Amino acid sequence: MPGLPRIHIVATGGTITGAATSAADTAGYRAGALGIEALLAAIPEAAQLAHLSHEQAFKRDSKDFLPGEWLQLAKQIEQLMTQDDAPAGIVITHGTDTLEETAFFLALTLPRRIPVILTAAMRPASAHSSDGPMNLLQAIAAATRQALAAAGPLIVAANRLWRACDVTKRHTHAPDALGGFEAAPLATAHGTHWRIPPILATQPLFPAPWPDRLPEVWILPGYAGAPAELIDTAIASGVRGLVLALTGHGSVPEAWLPALVRARSQGLAIVRATRVPAGGVTPDANFNDTLQGTLASCGLSPWQARIALMLGLAAGLSHEALQNVFTSAS
Ligand code: ASP
Repeated sequence: MPGLPRIHIVATGGTITGAATSAADTAGYRAGALGIEALLAAIPEAAQLAHLSHEQAFKRDSKDFLPGEWLQLAKQIEQLMTQDDAPAGIVITHGTDTLEETAFFLALTLPRRIPVILTAAMRPASAHSSDGPMNLLQAIAAATRQALAAAGPLIVAANRLWRACDVTKRHTHAPDALGGFEAAPLATAHGTHWRIPPILATQPLFPAPWPDRLPEVWILPGYAGAPAELIDTAIASGVRGLVLALTGHGSVPEAWLPALVRARSQGLAIVRATRVPAGGVTPDANFNDTLQGTLASCGLSPWQARIALMLGLAAGLSHEALQNVFTSAS
């Protein structure tokens, strides 16, 4: 149809292009088994919304994504946005397992020129009631809405549109697994009609140019009896930073204190985060971050805090500037 915007689809794999041998099988399938063409063939209605172009950037289960591939994707998408015949919007199909990590990385890095919408599915393309086709259709519809560009990369799942920093995988197999805990969705859809509120324009915290590699940052879990050797092992491995996924409000076990002092004296950046899904960790609350030289994740999950720390360390930010990143990215 003439006059329709062009939306470019970047496929990376995941359950949305997963296939099993039986349509009743929603567990024993291979993520990313099909090409994006197979999924597009299931949504001929998309031709009413946009002219589509597509590419297959990866074909994998998102549990196997690597930080270097976030960089690769960011560079690829930045190039698409800035080329002469840039599309009106971009849709990225992805697995749900680490969707929130890729989306958050892109939200911290990509310029906000055109809408970038990530989407996924919980049921493979081969299943009865697969959620992938409708999610993709809704993602394409959202990508045609220029007003969404200012909000940075967003996630479409099950009739809802989410900011990247608000989304987590909340359920291991339910169709509406992706969502927030305290945050509300930015918009809701009825079919392919999105009701979109006014969006505040912001810029990414880490615009290009980006480094070729990201520094190594580990996430260490807090639990009853967690040994301080976890920290010493990380120091010995030469990591640049640690995110502690602690109990409660970022509660540091007494037994970890000497190892944390050793880590700080070796120059490691240390972020207090929490394994609790909502509430986050406030600086200097429940622990003296100022005295101990630690950072607080604010509203970021441990895996989001890891991404922010990797980018912040790569940019050579000071301790204070790093804390500002956590404060303003959540
Ligand atoms: N393991 C799959 C993936 O993340 C799960 C999914 O897509 O729902 O690629």
